[in-house]
Amino acid sequence: QAKAAGRNAYEFFSPEMNRYAHERMALEAALRDALSGGGLYLHYQPQLRLDDNRLYGVEALARWRDPHFGDVPPSHFIPLAEECGLIVELGRVVLDEACRQLADWRRRGVPIPSVSLNLSSPHFRDPTLPALIADTLARHCLTPRDITLEATESMVMDAHPITQENVAAIHAAGVHLALDDFGTGYSSLGYLRSLPVSELKLDRSFIRDLGRDDKTGALVDAVIRMGESLNLTVVAEGIERQEQARFLARHGCHIGQGYLYARPLAPDTLEQWLAGR
Ligand code: C2E
Ligand code: MG
Ligand code: MG
Ligand code: MG
Repeated sequence: QAKAAGRNAYEFFSPEMNRYAHERMALEAALRDALSGGGLYLHYQPQLRLDDNRLYGVEALARWRDPHFGDVPPSHFIPLAEECGLIVELGRVVLDEACRQLADWRRRGVPIPSVSLNLSSPHFRDPTLPALIADTLARHCLTPRDITLEATESMVMDAHPITQENVAAIHAAGVHLALDDFGTGYSSLGYLRSLPVSELKLDRSFIRDLGRDDKTGALVDAVIRMGESLNLTVVAEGIERQEQARFLARHGCHIGQGYLYARPLAPDTLEQWLAGR
């Protein structure tokens, strides 16, 4: 019932500028409340090894349910948080919750190898990021190898000096970095050579178009080979169909993630999913 009301309220979000500005302020205030009051939570999507189907890790994805606005998708609240200066706080909440959850799984013997987290560019420009990561890991008795940080190409290729220091510090601390939505940015291959990343996440638009035209297949194959020769783990995002998984496995892609295996799941549902395999 609350959900139905929330959904209506959300759809009411009209393109009219006045209303837009008003709704936006209300949404911003609601997000602020969620960050301090717990309306923000995480779902986890499994990532599987394509050769033997074993679990490689899970990606934590932020979810927000507001009493008035209902379920607000990340495509709305992440840009909002970035624009109104709440993203660094949101990242802190996500990092802490993901680490708390992983530590809880470890204690209860739930076999989750590691958790990937998404960051935004303001995190990389925040000089306290490495200390925050170290502190959060220590507080939950985890090690740097327990988490992977996901960033897009544009985030880490930012010329901002703090970004470069942070990328180096994260790497030096032993935390893995993954390039998210790989292939949609403008990374020069030369840069990739010097960037301390350990994972490439092939953007789901390439996976979607697999089998639709020959060029996509050739491109995906080229990225997998490049990853192989640079010693990077290649993760394919957005696998929805068996043919896509077969193509990727045949071409040596290491890891797959997508609705074919599981949607992002609440922690207890993920545990059931694992138990049922
Ligand atoms: P992303 O990091 O590239 O995450 C993958 C997105 O693809 C997720 O959308 C996931 O639900 C969706 N997805 C996974 N498998 C499939 C599939 O087979 N088909 C389709 N159509 N979609 C699939 P979601 O959860 O809506 O998140 C969207 C974006 O919001 C994320 O893209 C990420 O950039 C951002 N985001 C989510 N959580 C956080 C967060 O905690 N912090 C930050 N900074 N950004 C976040
Ligand atoms: Mg991601
Ligand atoms: Mg992505
Ligand atoms: Mg993304």
